[in-house]
Amino acid sequence: MGRSILSHFFVLSNTYPRSISSFRPCGVHLSKCLSRTGAVQQQRRVRPGENFRCLCSVAVSEPSTSATSSSSVKKRIVSGVQPTGSIHLGNYLGAIKNWIDLQNTYETLFFIVDLHAITLPYETQQLSKATKDTAALYLACGVDSSKASVFVQSHVRAHVELMWLLSSATPIGWLNRMIQFKEKSRKAGDDNVGVALLTYPVLMASDILLYQSDLVPVGEDQKQHLELTRELAERVNYLYGGRKWKKLGGRGGAIFKVPEPLIPPTGARVMSLTDGLSKMSKSAPSDQSRINLLDPKDVISNKIKRCKTDSFPGLEFDNPERPECNNLLSIYQLVTSKTKQEVVEECQDMNWGTFKTLLTDALVDHLHPIQTRYAEIMSDTAYLDNILAEGASKATAIADATLSNVYQAMGFLRR
Ligand code: ATP
Ligand code: MG
Repeated sequence: MGRSILSHFFVLSNTYPRSISSFRPCGVHLSKCLSRTGAVQQQRRVRPGENFRCLCSVAVSEPSTSATSSSSVKKRIVSGVQPTGSIHLGNYLGAIKNWIDLQNTYETLFFIVDLHAITLPYETQQLSKATKDTAALYLACGVDSSKASVFVQSHVRAHVELMWLLSSATPIGWLNRMIQFKEKSRKAGDDNVGVALLTYPVLMASDILLYQSDLVPVGEDQKQHLELTRELAERVNYLYGGRKWKKLGGRGGAIFKVPEPLIPPTGARVMSLTDGLSKMSKSAPSDQSRINLLDPKDVISNKIKRCKTDSFPGLEFDNPERPECNNLLSIYQLVTSKTKQEVVEECQDMNWGTFKTLLTDALVDHLHPIQTRYAEIMSDTAYLDNILAEGASKATAIADATLSNVYQAMGFLRR
C-alpha cells in the first residue's frame, strides 16, 4: 500500500465522525475518488503516480447507535484464524494469546475463518476437523466463551452476503496490490489460483465491518488487508451512506464504523524455524518450519534441535545479521513471560546447545497445559458444539442488523 494511501487513513482517523451534517475534504487520491470533483479532475488526465488529492466534500457522520462506542459501551474487537492446518506458535503468540487479555476489556468475537481456508487448494476431508480443532484450541488457550463469542464464520451467512455487496464497491486495483495475494499466487502458480485468493480481502472486510468493530488485532502480515478494509468502509459510507441512505428511508450517517488496527508490541511476527526472514506459517510446506501447539515433546525437541542458527559467538536480540537468533530469543521471552533485559542477562553468553535445551523446556512447559485442556475439550464434543452454536447465534444478531442496513442503503427492495 502506497504512502499516499496510508496518510489518507491517518487523516481520516484523526477527524473521524462527529455528526451527519459536518463535512471534511475527501483527501483521497484522485485516481481513487469516485466523487464528481475527482472524476472531473481525472478527465484532465492526472497521471498515475501524481500525488493529487481530491478536495470534494465528504459527509462526516456517525455509525449506528448500536455500534457507537461511548464510555458506557465496551469497544468491540473481532479476530480469527483460518483452519488451514495446525495452529502454530505464530498464530498463538501473534494472535490468540493476546485475545485472552482483550476479552476482559472489550466485547470480543473470535471466529474460525473457514471460508478463507478454501482460497487455496485444500482437503475436503480435513476442513471440518481442522475447524473443530481450531475452536478447541481457542478455548484451550484461554478464550472464555462466557466473555467472548466463539463461532465458525460459515455458520453466519451474512459474511458471504456482505462480501458480494462490498465486492461491487471494491476497485480491482486495490486487490491486485495486496502483497499476500502476490506471494501466495506466485507460490501456487499464477494461472491456477482461484479468484477467491484475489477477493479474500473483501471477505475479510466483510468479517470486520459486519460487526461494526472498533479494533482489529492484526499481525504484520494482515496490516495491508486491514488498511483495505478501512478504505472500503470509507468508500461505502461515502457512496451509499449519509443523506442518500436517509432518502431511502434509512437512518442516514455512516453505514460502517472504520476499524483501527491493534498491533501487539511483541510477538507481532514470529519467524520460521528454517528461515529467520520468513514468517512462521501454516501453509509453509515444511512442518519443520513451525512449532504447532499440539506438537508432542519429542517433536518440539527435534524441531528446535534442527532449527536454523548461526555461528556468531553468544546470543543477542535485534542484530539484523542474526534474524534466527532474534526470533528464537523472542519466542523464549514470550513463552516465559520474562522481560527482554532478563533474557539478555540469562542468555547472552550461552552457546546454541545450551539455549536450545532451555528453549525446548520452556516451550514444552508452556504448551503442556494447553494440550491437556485441548484433549479434555475434544473428548466432549457436545460442549464445543454448544459453544459454537451460541456464538453463531449472538454473531448473527449483530451481523444481520448491519447487512439489512447495507441492503437498504444500496437500494434493494425490502422483504
Ligand atoms: P496461512 O499460511 O494459511 O495464511 P497463517 O499461519 O498465516 O496461515 P492465518 O490463519 O492466516 O495464519 O492468521 C491467523 C492469525 O495469526 C492472524 O491474526 C495473523 O496475523 C496471525 N499470524 C499468522 N502467522 C503469524 C506469525 N508468523 N507471527 C505472528 N502472527 C501470525
Ligand atoms: Mg495467513
